[in-house]
Amino acid sequence: MSKRVSKAARSTGNVLAICGGVGGGKLALGLYLTLAPQRLIVAVNTGDDFEHLGLSISPDVDTVLYTLAGVADRERGWGRARETWNFMAALGEMGGETWFQLGDRDLAIHVERTRFLREGKTLSDFIAHAARQLGISARIMPMTDDNVRTFVEIDGGELPFQRYFVERRCAPAVRALRFAGAERARPTTKLLETLADPALRAVVICPSNPYLSIGPFLAMPELRQALAHSRAPVIVVSPIIAGQAVKGPTAKIMTELGIPVTNESIAARYRGLADGLVIDNRDSNEAAGLDLPVLVTRTRMLDLADRKRLAQEVITFADEVAARENAVSSRRHAGGRRA
Ligand code: GDP
Repeated sequence: MSKRVSKAARSTGNVLAICGGVGGGKLALGLYLTLAPQRLIVAVNTGDDFEHLGLSISPDVDTVLYTLAGVADRERGWGRARETWNFMAALGEMGGETWFQLGDRDLAIHVERTRFLREGKTLSDFIAHAARQLGISARIMPMTDDNVRTFVEIDGGELPFQRYFVERRCAPAVRALRFAGAERARPTTKLLETLADPALRAVVICPSNPYLSIGPFLAMPELRQALAHSRAPVIVVSPIIAGQAVKGPTAKIMTELGIPVTNESIAARYRGLADGLVIDNRDSNEAAGLDLPVLVTRTRMLDLADRKRLAQEVITFADEVAARENAVSSRRHAGGRRA
């Protein structure tokens, strides 16, 4: 697939980030602070969404919104900073379900989203509204406005995603994942338009869980096809460092599914879609064995400076990959003319 991105697109084009919640959100923030904010488009996983206590909840979307708005709780890793828990305490006193924590401040976004959706508006409408209210100038969108719901197959049954992730704390061994509704779901029109934009500078698949967070995207046939046909370079940032996930169940799930916890497995996961892979310095020995262009750098993002530096490096790498492919395709073109 040739990636003809013009020089002009390289200096002014948009960047699409595809991500889940916490890990992906870190790099999305780096991109937001590095690029002109209106150049960044973020498409977020909605496979984790669910209905709970009568509310429509979109955990990854909210993590990205809170992160870009600078109101996320960095210590806890989810929810809002300066949170209080009066509602949860009162709910417990009422004998209500308390396995999924909803902070008092956080509650507002779920109540508002539920109201929007009940009025017949879309999740895209709500996210655009919430981003505006939170003062975010990047465009944030869900991967789809249709219902896609992740289910985790375990021994003897199946769990809805949040029951597995939050209530059971990822303890049961994963035998398979199912993304109910994905076959028929349409990616949002804006997402498809972005992928088809000839001036799109890069697609960055953030270091999100490739199975739980990116899996729902890839389970939508139309999205897979649009990604494969995008003329922009598709760069994957690996969530695996030295055979481990930085956080969360990525490595555990890979082991349970019989997949070696290596960057080669990450490359294989995105084969036919990715044009470049970014791996950590600690895995430099794996670079030579990978069958696509690789950038080896520090991918661990501890502070804001790490997020910005990695974002800048990923964009520079994307431009290099696009230029290399340009050179290859024009050489091929010239060769064809001579023949
Ligand atoms: P979730 O939806 O909130 O679970 O978050 P994501 O799916 O977006 O991110 C989870 C993944 O992020 C895990 O596989 C982690 O290994 C990865 N991750 C978290 N922080 C970092 C980091 O600083 N660097 C890299 N390379 N990966 C990270």
